[in-house]
Amino acid sequence: MTRIAVLGATGSIGTQALDVVRELRARGEPVAVVALAAGRKVEVLAAQAREFGVRRVGVAGAAEATAIRRLLPPEVEVIPGPEGLAALASLPEVDLVLNAVVGAAGLVATLAALRAGKKLALANKESLVVAGELVLAARMRPDQIVPVDSEHAALWQLLAGVRPDEVARLWLTASGGPFRDRDPATLAQVTPAEALAHPTWRMGPRITVDSATLVNKAFEVIEAHHLFAAPWDRIGVLLHPESRAHALVELVDGTVVAQLAPADMRIPIRAALTHPRRLPPPPARLPLEGLRLAFRELPRDRYPAFWTVLAAGKAGGTAPAVANAADEVLVNAFLRGKISFPAIAHGIETVLARHVPQSIASLEAVLAADNWARAEAERVVDRARRWV
Ligand code: MG
Repeated sequence: MTRIAVLGATGSIGTQALDVVRELRARGEPVAVVALAAGRKVEVLAAQAREFGVRRVGVAGAAEATAIRRLLPPEVEVIPGPEGLAALASLPEVDLVLNAVVGAAGLVATLAALRAGKKLALANKESLVVAGELVLAARMRPDQIVPVDSEHAALWQLLAGVRPDEVARLWLTASGGPFRDRDPATLAQVTPAEALAHPTWRMGPRITVDSATLVNKAFEVIEAHHLFAAPWDRIGVLLHPESRAHALVELVDGTVVAQLAPADMRIPIRAALTHPRRLPPPPARLPLEGLRLAFRELPRDRYPAFWTVLAAGKAGGTAPAVANAADEVLVNAFLRGKISFPAIAHGIETVLARHVPQSIASLEAVLAADNWARAEAERVVDRARRWV
């Protein structure tokens, strides 16, 4: 029996993971959900907890804890805050933690799960982006982290059985987002609704905007650098509008291996939950007949935030945590109509320019940089609003 804690259960990845668990259980697979956590959607979380018979749930804070206790039987334990995430990630009865928490809050759960020896299906990108060194130091064995992000799930599969000295280059693909072919001079007029209309993937709001700026792809390069111990100059990004090839690996003998799959997150989620087995049926099938694949170099001038965030990743220490926190604040401000789309990239650059990177010896150093960057980014948002 694989006993799973689903953290971030009401988000896009979390709800699709529960769909996968329902389907696996209906097929007689020995999987059970034993713990659930979410932020503020207490009604949805309570319904999930009742359906799966879960005895322990985590929520954002004290107010949500009070609200959900009214919706659940008294024997269900409710643990609020980051302590709740850490407690659920390290429960003795949990074998596998799916960390689909959105934002830097997920780091606490990642570290707790790794230190407790759990297998970690990692969908929280911030963990490796903001604290790659800390996360790798907490890992007890190389295969303890199974990536859920589609590109990293692809690389994970492609690199199985390949020796590090046989790899020439890792390639991540990017759809290019909804503004791939738009005149850059008109980007100041794009609306949140346009940014949220991703051409190929169905995802949560922040990551969808991050896919339009390509901040998401810079995060993914940083993740790949840590997860696969790949030097920066051996990781490339290709524009690939069809989102069918999720990653490619160039080998030293001239062979290129690629992973292809439909743009359906249930495939990497299912692979992570059943790893190392592969089980039928596929949630969706990729039609190979008539399949056309195009790859282009990433244009230098179209995605300024990509290069800024990538440079922060290479600088290391607290710089990527600052880039992540600033981006989160700026994306929220854009979604609420407070700043323009190009102001996201500009704001990240402004906040990073004021930051002196420190090394990250502890979780506290990461959280301090995160707090500082949030306050700086809020100031950038306030100033941008005064100009309008
Ligand atoms: Mg991805």
